[in-house]
Amino acid sequence: MAFNLKNRIRRKLYSFHGKVFLSSYKGTKFHCNICDQSFDKMIKLYDSYTIRGKDSDHSLPNAICPNCGSWFRHRMLQKYIDDSGFLEGQPKLLHFAPETFFVKNFEKKLGNNYHTCDLKVMESPNHHIVDINNIPFEDNSFDRIICSHVLEHIETDEKAISELYRILKPGGIALIAVPTYGDKTEEDLSLTPAQRKLEYGINIHVRLYGTDISKKLEKAGFKVQMESYETIEGNYMERGHRSAHLDSDKYIFICTK
Ligand SMILES: [Zn+2]
Repeated sequence: MAFNLKNRIRRKLYSFHGKVFLSSYKGTKFHCNICDQSFDKMIKLYDSYTIRGKDSDHSLPNAICPNCGSWFRHRMLQKYIDDSGFLEGQPKLLHFAPETFFVKNFEKKLGNNYHTCDLKVMESPNHHIVDINNIPFEDNSFDRIICSHVLEHIETDEKAISELYRILKPGGIALIAVPTYGDKTEEDLSLTPAQRKLEYGINIHVRLYGTDISKKLEKAGFKVQMESYETIEGNYMERGHRSAHLDSDKYIFICTK
């Protein structure tokens, strides 16, 4: 649940930079469906990690909204939510470690049915301090869950996934996203933070997920469907440009109980 501090600072800087130069980005080529603004270009993300010990350029053009600071994966999630009717009918939603630009929109849409949670305090009316390994809610409490870029920080991810399943109502849907690299998960919990940085890109990620996370989700009881920017159409992102970053943040796992 801890969020990469470097990226948080970078996003704030980009957001500030964007506000100063916002007029130079305005146009029609890309649409940010989170702040409902359109641009001819977005801010380039400069990023680089070591993955499995090798340098990996994760830079991505037209990645960050110059107005709200959302990344392409946030806008992809928003597009899925809008297209699928995920929030129709005022469902009771629990949102793990939410970004502030989502909080304002979801609060407006769901009112008192919108609940946020994290290990830390944050400004949100229905906020709960929650350890995902031991969620303090009754079975079958929520119609919807969003848990994006959280599980890669959790050593006992199977316990966390079983907790997500437990608190979701039958027929409920959880949107789960993690960075993935290939089809097979790599995990060695004995690695030091420095070794994790070298192998998994960031010292606070405890494994390198593959798309086989779907098997862990199914093992907990979920019915799993995978969606990606290839199936979630729209001009919320640059298309026709491949990068390691696009590949790693490609999927949303739609998990139904
Ligand atoms: Zn935006």
